[in-house]
Amino acid sequence: MSKAFIDLYSDTKTLPSAGMRAAMAQAEVGDEQADEDPSTLALISKMCTLLNMPAGLFLPSGSMCNLVAILSHTRPGDEVICDEQAHIYGTEAAGAAALAGVSIRPISCIHGLFSKDDLLVAVRDKSRTAPRSSLVSIEQTTNFSGGAIWPLAQMREVRDAAHSLGMKAHIDGARLLNACAATGIGAADYAQGWDSVWIDLSKGLGCPVGAVLCGSVDFIEAAAQWKYRLGGAMRQSGILAAAGLYALEHNVDRLKIDHDNARLIWRGLAGDPLFQFDPAEPVSNILRFHFDPLRINASEFAVACLEQGVRVRAMPGNFIRVTTHLDVSGSDAETAVAVMANVAGELLNRGHHAA
Ligand SMILES: *Cc1c(COP(=O)(O)O)cnc(C)c1O
Repeated sequence: MSKAFIDLYSDTKTLPSAGMRAAMAQAEVGDEQADEDPSTLALISKMCTLLNMPAGLFLPSGSMCNLVAILSHTRPGDEVICDEQAHIYGTEAAGAAALAGVSIRPISCIHGLFSKDDLLVAVRDKSRTAPRSSLVSIEQTTNFSGGAIWPLAQMREVRDAAHSLGMKAHIDGARLLNACAATGIGAADYAQGWDSVWIDLSKGLGCPVGAVLCGSVDFIEAAAQWKYRLGGAMRQSGILAAAGLYALEHNVDRLKIDHDNARLIWRGLAGDPLFQFDPAEPVSNILRFHFDPLRINASEFAVACLEQGVRVRAMPGNFIRVTTHLDVSGSDAETAVAVMANVAGELLNRGHHAA
């Protein structure tokens, strides 16, 4: 299959490989809704071991992991605290409000990382008139803030501060394994002591569908009922879980390659002052840069890059997000550097010409 373009838009664009498809075709299956699907149970068990969590739940998406976790941890009228770029705040169609009846209090912070003190400021004093702050959520790694990694100690301070106030603590670990690949810290170390954590299978791990949410036995029991209520319970989901099992075996160690390719792109462009990287350097598979809006418009940049065979994502604030993943090779990354540098130069000249 020939690729029409190099797709750096998102690591959700990864396609299931031939090996993954073969594993899916051969999966042992049963009725997931009745806990009878052996492949799904095996995937949950592997994830529980990886995260050192007692129980887990296979869900159709990461968004449903967040929603089911919020539904299970909170009650209507509560407030959830997270960073202002968080996926649960801006990118889940306000599911937390629409379905869990909670409001969200966003913390504005750099690169999606906030401190224990930021949390303490955001938590409401107990009062008849205030919402009850009952849950804090962090993203590891941060998505729209540019793929930053929470330092383990800072995460734990936030977790402990939440617990000391009687709140629950949730990790949106869509790309938790990218953090592990970058730091060498184990997933179980990151997850230790948190009330819920999930990993997406459909991003850098290359599966077509699915995510696994983990936590205590009681939490997962509540979450499983919410999953059912939301219509997320499945039947022969082993076809999908087999992709997850394949990914855990074949696509985890290689995440480092995606980080190398992200750095390759960064090294190729960081010397050009048109590209203002923020964060200054990539630490995982996501890079973000912005342009001076008087010189280059990010949306025009994205359109022009696609015309030259490279898809990137224009974001609010005149930012471009670039994501590397298992369908982007080192030579694709080099091509992308050449195209992006060329397009930026062209747009700049065009702008000067028009002025
Ligand atoms: C992608 C993503 C989600 C949602 O996962 P889906 O599987 O796309 O529903 C949630 N949080 C973060 C940080 C993400 O990057």
